Amino acid sequence: MNYIVFDLEWNQAPTVEEARPGLPFEIIEIGAVKVSAETLQTLDMFHRIIEPVVYPELFSHTRQVVALNQKDLEAGDSFHEAATDFLSWCGAGGEEYLFATWGSGDLKELQRNLEYFHIRNPFTGPIKYADVQQLYAISENETNQSLSLESVAQKMRISWQGRYHAALSDARYTAEILKTLDPELIETYPALDTYHYPDEKNEGLMLSYPDHLILYSPSFKTREELENSHTSILRCPVCKKKSKRLIPWHSGNGRAYYTIARCQTHGPMRGRRVFHDPEEDIHYTTITIKQITEEEAEHIVGKIRERGRRS
Ligand SMILES: [Zn+2]
Repeated sequence: MNYIVFDLEWNQAPTVEEARPGLPFEIIEIGAVKVSAETLQTLDMFHRIIEPVVYPELFSHTRQVVALNQKDLEAGDSFHEAATDFLSWCGAGGEEYLFATWGSGDLKELQRNLEYFHIRNPFTGPIKYADVQQLYAISENETNQSLSLESVAQKMRISWQGRYHAALSDARYTAEILKTLDPELIETYPALDTYHYPDEKNEGLMLSYPDHLILYSPSFKTREELENSHTSILRCPVCKKKSKRLIPWHSGNGRAYYTIARCQTHGPMRGRRVFHDPEEDIHYTTITIKQITEEEAEHIVGKIRERGRRS
């Protein structure tokens, strides 16, 4: 298997009003590094500059950040050409691959651009990938999950020096950081891109991590259908069996809902449910479930029951 470590740069409309529906960000650069998962050797690199057609002028902020100027872009390929080349390069030789990126936005924007430009998207469902930013934070017990690539690369004293916010150079930094990670960690903590979300015919998804479980519900056309569905069931993070709720779902301070449930074998657990509606007709929830102690469960159940009595 190979890792395809990639990075995108994109451009946007000068104002919110001028943003084109379906394409808030137009990709202007793709940089990627192919790394063997077995030997961790860099096997190949990929780089394309793309001439933007929806937002042809570089947005002021983008111009300050990226390494490209207007002339570079005008000499660039079409997105169609660059994206098609990139996708065939990823799977060249029939080798399996896992995408790796710094943070979580790139796979979504890649697919959104494919859709906008009517290019066949080879990925029909959610994509498991390695979020190197998140994996690095986990490996270092770092509570800040959004460390900048630059700060981590400097801290790790990566010998190779390239410019930041240039797609290939950022992909190379990300690849060097990925190579230092424990392969087991990469396998244990997959990230999930949900640009293509499972529909209501689907059973949803379950991602299991060492200390928690995430349940992705199927998606529904309306919030109402979602709320009337049986998607609020908790499963034990250890044995995955359906577990009985001890209290109803209640809202916290933010947009999340909480509950406590119990597995007969593994004891109490806490569930955190969040509603998502990335598109007008896509509604789904994620439930994150963690084991908790008997004391914690008692405390929370007591507090909620008391709140119920007072209201
Ligand atoms: Zn259990």
